[in-house]
Amino acid sequence: TQKTEDTLSRLASIGQIAAGIAHEVRNPLTAVKGFLQLLKEEISHGYLDIACSELDQAIATLQDLLQVCKPDLEEESYLSINLCSELESLLYLFQDQIYRVQIVRNFRNCDEVIWGKRNQLKKAFFNLLKNAFEAIPHEGIITIDHYRMGDFVYVSISDTGVGVPREKLQLLGTPFFTTKDEGTGMGLTQVFSTIYQHGGTIEVKSTEGIGTTFTIQFPIEMIEQIGVMDMNMQYVEGQS
Ligand code: ADP
Ligand code: MG
Repeated sequence: TQKTEDTLSRLASIGQIAAGIAHEVRNPLTAVKGFLQLLKEEISHGYLDIACSELDQAIATLQDLLQVCKPDLEEESYLSINLCSELESLLYLFQDQIYRVQIVRNFRNCDEVIWGKRNQLKKAFFNLLKNAFEAIPHEGIITIDHYRMGDFVYVSISDTGVGVPREKLQLLGTPFFTTKDEGTGMGLTQVFSTIYQHGGTIEVKSTEGIGTTFTIQFPIEMIEQIGVMDMNMQYVEGQS
């Protein structure tokens, strides 16, 4: 649709500018941080701690920004990807969290491969998993479903976390929208743009205080062109 193309071309041009800025600013920031760290060893001062953590935040934002923009600038080629093994290797990165968050794997599709850009998809699933862990303040469950239904392959990631308030639901995926002190608000922007580039769709269901489910749907035949952009935000009252 026209709206899809507008949004995608806007994202692409924002991306080019942002990538330029990110490249220019990230290196000097990283250097300043290095010098501050050296200084800190000489003179101990609270302001230096603040400066360091502010710089960390700026670097994280730029890194995420770069990661969102990069796919436009550096074309990654399509490969066949087994989502089960990618998800499994991503979960391994969250091993230090399993003392508080139980992972339920409902993988029913593990002999299937999809056609996609591996790094982009890995980053997208990483971002979704990271958000799910971050949404659970103490203990909880993350459930990952992976199955095929008709001509579509689905991956859904559910958490028993804080949920998203109804009025915030539409803001998900907007660049820099974050509710976290140390957030960058770039994670879901990367997720949405990656899924759309793969011709997929993403649906979010959330109930405040109960949890959130992101469901991604890929067409079986993943074609090398921008697919349908169909975001369906749904608010589920009461129970999830
Ligand atoms: P960040 O994680 O840096 O804040 P994201 O783009 O990944 O940026 O997410 C944006 C916002 O969306 C988060 O700050 C949070 O408010 C909300 N959000 C994303 N995923 C979840 C989730 N699984 N549960 C609750 N809120 C979420
Ligand atoms: Mg995030």
